[in-house]
Amino acid sequence: MMRGMGRQLLDSLFPRACVGCGSALGKESAYDYICPDCLREIDWIRNHFCPRCGAPDVENGTICDECGKKTFSFRRNRSIYVYSGLGRRIIHELKYRNGRHLLPDIGRMGREACLDLHAAVLVPVPLHWWRQWLRGFNQSELICGHLAKIYGCEVCPLLRRSRHTRRQFGLGSRARWKNVGNAFQINGRILRKMKVAKDRKITLVDDIFTTGATIEACAKVLAAAGFEHVEALTLARA
Ligand SMILES: [Zn+2]
Ligand SMILES: [Zn+2]
Repeated sequence: MMRGMGRQLLDSLFPRACVGCGSALGKESAYDYICPDCLREIDWIRNHFCPRCGAPDVENGTICDECGKKTFSFRRNRSIYVYSGLGRRIIHELKYRNGRHLLPDIGRMGREACLDLHAAVLVPVPLHWWRQWLRGFNQSELICGHLAKIYGCEVCPLLRRSRHTRRQFGLGSRARWKNVGNAFQINGRILRKMKVAKDRKITLVDDIFTTGATIEACAKVLAAAGFEHVEALTLARA
């Protein structure tokens, strides 16, 4: 009751606008910053996706052509939507315009993909300290923190970045794998302090899955440290 009234008061003081089209959102909207019309524009990955890498439009029961050629250190990646249109816009707002207010909507969007998250230990893909300092935050950490709150799971920053890498954006596939290889290490201090059992399910969390190079570089380090079950959850599949 109080919460509803607080929301109403806030809405009248600071009207919420849709991140897609700018239209005003009232208290009846299911999402805080996405109107129903724009929500329909999102290219959801719900059926017919590759069970290994989460690529969309893959016939049920089969893996995609790319996964047929590769082996990964993680069991699977699940992405919530395709990286395009409004889906891309949401990530840009979060990363480059400090769009933390979008986190509850991101949590809502992930409902289906996050069904089995309660048993997982969430591990954010770390940023290099320099980039994190420039940006002021790590978007993967923000997403982890929010999902942990909703789904009641733990967050454990088991990894750290051992070297600075170029941004993956704009690099070709081969360059991406090379750029990010050996960029991560186990965070020994956190591992000792948090005592995560090696048979726990580890879910790496990141904003975008493109070639899988970043997730693979992280998963490889976790596997080498003895973690038996590593998978990934990413907002968008590019
Ligand atoms: Zn809209
Ligand atoms: Zn695949």
